[in-house]
Amino acid sequence: MKEIQMSDISYSEKRRRRVKRLKCMIVIAFFTVVTIPIALCIYLGCTLYGVNNDLAEITAQYEAQLEITDELQSKLEAEKYAREAAIVESSEAAVDLNTVSSDTATVKTNTTDEEPEEIQAEDDINHVYLTFDDGPSIYTEEILDILDQYDAKATFFVTGEAATEHPERYKMIADRGHTLAMHSYSHKYSEVYKNKDNFVKDFNKIRDFIRETTGVTPVIYRFPGGSSNRVSATDMNELCEYLEDEGIHYFDWNVSSGDATSQTLSRDRIVANCLAGIYSHKDSVVLLHDTSAKYTTVAALPVILEQLSKLENTEICAITEDTPVVQHREIKENE
Ligand SMILES: [Zn+2]
Repeated sequence: MKEIQMSDISYSEKRRRRVKRLKCMIVIAFFTVVTIPIALCIYLGCTLYGVNNDLAEITAQYEAQLEITDELQSKLEAEKYAREAAIVESSEAAVDLNTVSSDTATVKTNTTDEEPEEIQAEDDINHVYLTFDDGPSIYTEEILDILDQYDAKATFFVTGEAATEHPERYKMIADRGHTLAMHSYSHKYSEVYKNKDNFVKDFNKIRDFIRETTGVTPVIYRFPGGSSNRVSATDMNELCEYLEDEGIHYFDWNVSSGDATSQTLSRDRIVANCLAGIYSHKDSVVLLHDTSAKYTTVAALPVILEQLSKLENTEICAITEDTPVVQHREIKENE
């Protein structure tokens, strides 16, 4: 009886423990299945919220940066256009300068009248004097051929640079009916303009050379850099007077092709510069260059001549001693 009671107690104790374990397991299972995911969700939710905030901030910063970049970009574009405009403006200013220089350039008769007389058109004919400086060069013959095609005569202000190796080029210019004019022998500013003696020596050298080589005695002169150059160490008035005394007519120009720049000017720019100048003058003395570097000038020449051939009352002529001079400086003989 006592044994039966003992076994009952032990059985109920075991059962109680089992139920307790089960309860424990249920609680653990509840926590595992419900609480942990909830906590995890809360944690993830918070993290997501933070990430969202960060993302919003980064997006805002990115957009602000984008705006700044856009602004910089448009500023750069604006600057680029401004620079391009300035380049165009400066080249147009060069054309204007030609116009201005033509206004300041005095057009005088070659008479010995005391007061240089302003030339008014005695007729309706406009004159275009194409002048080529610094030659002769590898392009001289080509230039002469193009001029021939249009039956046009021009003026070549030559230096002595090609004297030794190509004396025939000087003769070619004269033989084909163009004016062979002087532009100093050395064309070195530091030598030609060092003092009057140097200038005289250089002047006689180029005049004698042309005379001996071609049989032509030149009477037309153009100062290297023009009579208004600012590099001469000698008073230009003194040199102008010297040439006058020698019976030499010196010419500057009132239209510039702009081909003297170290950068090669495009053919179209040269054409545009020349035509703009010619259209705005009754009589135009057009400055061009004949050197091995000026191939775009050669390319521009037929286009210029073609356009000029379409103009009414316009003659293309070579400068002679009867041509009214175009000079940048006023001779101060009447002062
Ligand atoms: Zn020159």
